Amino acid sequence: MNRSRIDSYQNHPYWWDSGPDDQPINLDRLATPANEIPLQADCVVVGAGYTGLSAALTLARAGRSVIVLDESQPGYGCSGRNGGLIGPSFHKLGLDGLKARLGETKANAIMRESMDILLWLKQFISHEGIECGLIEAGRFRGAVTHKFYGELARQAETLEKVVDLAYEMIPESEQRGHIGSDFYKGGIVYHQDGHLHPGLFLKGLANLALEAGAKIFAPARVKQIESIDNGYRVKLEEASIRCGEVMIATNGYTDPNFPYLRRRVIPLRSAIISTEPLSPDLMRELSPRQHGFGDTGRLVTYYRPSSDGTRMVFGGRAFNQADRPENYTRDLHRLMTRIFPQLRETGISHAWSGTVAYTFDHAPHIGRVPEGAMAGAHYAMGYCGSGVGRATWFGRKAALKILKDPEGSTPLDHLTFETRPLYSGNPWFLPAILRWHNLLDRFGY
Ligand SMILES: Cc1cc2nc3c(=O)[nH]c(=O)nc-3n(C[C@H](O)[C@H](O)[C@H](O)COP(=O)(O)OP(=O)(O)OC[C@H]3O[C@@H](n4cnc5c(N)ncnc54)[C@H](O)[C@@H]3O)c2cc1C
Repeated sequence: MNRSRIDSYQNHPYWWDSGPDDQPINLDRLATPANEIPLQADCVVVGAGYTGLSAALTLARAGRSVIVLDESQPGYGCSGRNGGLIGPSFHKLGLDGLKARLGETKANAIMRESMDILLWLKQFISHEGIECGLIEAGRFRGAVTHKFYGELARQAETLEKVVDLAYEMIPESEQRGHIGSDFYKGGIVYHQDGHLHPGLFLKGLANLALEAGAKIFAPARVKQIESIDNGYRVKLEEASIRCGEVMIATNGYTDPNFPYLRRRVIPLRSAIISTEPLSPDLMRELSPRQHGFGDTGRLVTYYRPSSDGTRMVFGGRAFNQADRPENYTRDLHRLMTRIFPQLRETGISHAWSGTVAYTFDHAPHIGRVPEGAMAGAHYAMGYCGSGVGRATWFGRKAALKILKDPEGSTPLDHLTFETRPLYSGNPWFLPAILRWHNLLDRFGY
């Protein structure tokens, strides 16, 4: 392994550099400087990721004046950093786990909505003409042991009945037709899944919101929100905006200024590396059908060809909560070359990370803050690491709730947004859990 080629990466998302003709996509240019912020609006949205921009688009198209604020730049959070894999993102507990907790009707409705989100997202992208390299080539999920192969088959059979999941089991002997690796004991292809260019999707969504009349300001950090007569006062460093409704879309970047929400989301660092450009032959060998990839390991890994098909983009959990590219780049390179030994001598062009938002019940949450100075503020967050479709969908749903449109209802309404005693937003317990999962994976449990 040539260490210098692994260590000489750029420490920002590959997506930011890979617009059309390989030009930077300049997400910062989507926003106006904060000194031009109006003092009043119908709605203020905090956070310019998929959730916030999707909410802004829906509100602006309904004729509301909308201000979107981001403390850094549009797409600074997960929405400009993710892997771009899209799928139904079923609840982690699976159908049986959900049934045990919420009953059969609710469980089925939640699973069905997950599939609806995926189908809606693909339709939305095509209907709005968003050019974001959407490739509907399916996803291969590898079984790390024979036991997991059987489990994948059983789960898929049930989901086929409940939500029309389209899948195909791939035995180990046929695996090479789907992935250039002998690492797995066979796997499954989810035919409805795909992948897109996260930065271009963000840009497309932001442009639609701007065209509909929403205004995006950044950098503009919201320090406080307080409810006042007929609405809210949203306080920034040097300005304060009066508005009728406020929507919090800060997900894994929710800060202590929003204590009710901060105590309910668990920020978890996820990291990605992208390889140097690879030869067309090697890319065809690694991903003969342009699938995205994942596996049954407890420690999440996700990977895919880049949207232009020239390199591999490989992501997984970072063991450290701080942004330590010198650590996660090597960890991810090791994981990647266990699956693809062909990439042992390949250099890394970019390495970056972001914080996703987990929740104590593994479900996204949408609703209104019930208590404190910002009581009544709307929110949607907690996508548990799978948020390209969910954030866009639940941002829209939250906006529809603001508009009092019955279409804003979702099977996730009224779920208790749990916290834990003494938890204030710092998940000190996570590194130990991740190392334990890593150990279980290594021994095939
Ligand atoms: C490395 C990585 C890989 C991922 N891969 C995938 C994938 O392949 N597929 C998938 O479906 N999902 C993936 N995800 C998850 C997905 O990207 C997120 O769930 C989704 O983008 C969340 O969008 P959001 O708009 O809710 O939040 P974000 O995009 O995180 O936006 C939150 C915004 O809030 C702003 N903010 C925070 N506090 C304030 C404040 N006080 N004032 C103003 N602004 C504030 C932040 O600057 C940030 O821009 C991944 C995430 C990461 C980090």
